Amino acid sequence: MIPYGRQSINQNDIDAVMAALKNDFLTTGPLVEKFESELAKEVGAPTAVVSSGTAALHCAYAAIGVETGDEIITPPITFIATQATAAIMGAKIVFAEVQPDTANIDPRAVEASITSRTKAIVAVDYAGHPADMMELRAIADKYGVYLIEDAAHSIGSHYRERPVGSLADITTFSFFPTKNLTTAEGGAVSSLNSELLDKARLFSRQGLIRDFSKYRINNQGAWHQEVHNFGLNYRLPDVLCALGSSQLQRLAEFKKRRNEIFQTYTEAFSDLETVVLPSMREYVDPTWHLFPIRVPASIRRSVFDQLKAAGVGVQVNYIPAYLHPVFDTEKYPRGLCPIAEKFYSEEISLPIHFNLSAEELERIIQALFNSIAHK
Ligand SMILES: *Cc1c(COP(=O)(O)O)cnc(C)c1O
Repeated sequence: MIPYGRQSINQNDIDAVMAALKNDFLTTGPLVEKFESELAKEVGAPTAVVSSGTAALHCAYAAIGVETGDEIITPPITFIATQATAAIMGAKIVFAEVQPDTANIDPRAVEASITSRTKAIVAVDYAGHPADMMELRAIADKYGVYLIEDAAHSIGSHYRERPVGSLADITTFSFFPTKNLTTAEGGAVSSLNSELLDKARLFSRQGLIRDFSKYRINNQGAWHQEVHNFGLNYRLPDVLCALGSSQLQRLAEFKKRRNEIFQTYTEAFSDLETVVLPSMREYVDPTWHLFPIRVPASIRRSVFDQLKAAGVGVQVNYIPAYLHPVFDTEKYPRGLCPIAEKFYSEEISLPIHFNLSAEELERIIQALFNSIAHK
């Protein structure tokens, strides 16, 4: 089976991890700050690393102070972590419709969903293609709400000449093995707002304050540290930061290869009328994380099953999040976001990752042609 997404680990990655294992620190040593400062250069904003993309979202919501009853506007076409981390804090999840071509949140739908309880707008850069951040920024400013970017798919992508990570109030990344670069499990939060970044970082480190100028309990000894707000342990270990630093050096080649694969598929399928290919706005420069095609809903299942049978590891990204049974069907009925539901009913993600060979690509392309012919 050709996997739909897979990490690429080379000898440098292995050497970096082996060296880190021999250091004094296994966790929270000098390699954390090293990886953070390298990431900051890549994403154009100061960065805190955490233990997963899910942790990064939780830290982002904690940093903006999400409380029970706050409303968070999200797109339905995303991995459930975008919503789960806010819902667990008591937020009310609001779904705004997506754009039919990019599957990114539609700014007009966002504006229509704003209420006096809105705390934040969350954009997801689906497949690596940045959301319409300029329009979303204008809405966030107009109503005085936060703008969060779930960039789990899009590290290395640029929007209007700016790197993803420097566009929203807070941006979150994931370094899960299938993502654009990996630390096994891992993630990061970036922000140009130092107050928000400090809060996110503190939340990821049990809320423990170690700066005497901030203490509320004085006259304690050098052992003292104190907590003003609860946090959790979402630290990313030194050993994994070593892998992250090594992987980050390879991001440019990862991006190049992913985008070559995007081009190869686009050219191979350009005359296939049954298939709708991913589209790209002229003001973005994505690192393509997924290659999401669409086929008529009536044949999606058969095409998907035939691709699997031919050894092609396809996926569907994603079921609209509100269709997960965890959401109350009375408040979140089927038909809530028809464009998202249509997108889901037609979507298939083809394999795209650094180590995909030319021969495997040819096999995948043939398999798609065959599955459409025998639908
Ligand atoms: C992968 C992903 C996450 C969660 O990241 P983890 O590192 O797996 O916790 C969140 N949002 C989106 C859009 C993702 O694809």
